[in-house]
Amino acid sequence: MNGLRGKTAVVTGAGSGIGRASALRFAEEGANVVVADVVEETGRETADRIEDDGGDATFVEVDVSDFESVERMVDVAVDTYGSLDFAHNNAGILTGFVEMADIEEGLWDKLLDVNLKGIWACMKAELPVMEAQGSGVIVNTASEAGLVGMGGLASYSASKHGVVGLTKTAALEYATRGIRVNAIAPGPTNTNIQANTEGESGDLTSMPFDTSAMTDVPMGRGADPEEMAGAVAFLCSSDASYITGHTLPIDGGQAAD
Ligand code: NAD
Repeated sequence: MNGLRGKTAVVTGAGSGIGRASALRFAEEGANVVVADVVEETGRETADRIEDDGGDATFVEVDVSDFESVERMVDVAVDTYGSLDFAHNNAGILTGFVEMADIEEGLWDKLLDVNLKGIWACMKAELPVMEAQGSGVIVNTASEAGLVGMGGLASYSASKHGVVGLTKTAALEYATRGIRVNAIAPGPTNTNIQANTEGESGDLTSMPFDTSAMTDVPMGRGADPEEMAGAVAFLCSSDASYITGHTLPIDGGQAAD
């Protein structure tokens, strides 16, 4: 992929799933990677894998819903590598499937704090650095649930529609300042998101996230996280130099249905 070698990428939620695949892919492409996650153990595992493979990675513990924590993450990138060229703002959580009227207020707040405020907080910290450099690319992780409604996932769907709106707006605001902002909208992807989901609302243990059983995906299967990472690398590369403000569905054809 053109234009990634020697640059610096920050990936949030890089201890698992899509974020881990993205961090590994950035490293394969020759970028230095700031591996950011709220869970230290898994985040360090990702960073160690990159280092073991000969890459350069730095783990940072971050809670994306806390702006000060996010600011520290960006400081680490700049202090360690001297720039912040790419940001994959990816950390997110899922709730159990609950109808609108049964959503608990606390769970609503928590989900929106991580999935929506977290994306804003990351961009708020990243954009000034990129603007001062005169260049930078941001990719936010939205979801298929950010493009269509999904019964039982109101807070998740609202947060992801919000991510799409933030992405478009940031792209417009910074279009003439050398910064591109896009999002990916993954379809069902084989990750730990179900296991990592908090079970305060709905019995999650009875709902394994088995994408191999997905019947509404035209391609007839769920995605591997590496299939998301490839698109993130492309959107950050110079091959995507005229693409900004878009949300790319990566969904085996779901959005076309
Ligand atoms: P995952 O649970 O495997 O990974 C998410 C990572 O984010 C974990 O390592 C977790 O520790 C981290 N995280 C959670 N809260 C955090 C916080 N407050 N601060 C920092 N890190 C935090 O899940 P995944 O499927 O890889 O999810 C990644 C993104 O992809 C999420 O935004 C999710 O909504 C989105 N997504 C996933 C799917 C899917 O089918 N798996 C589909 C569409 C969108």
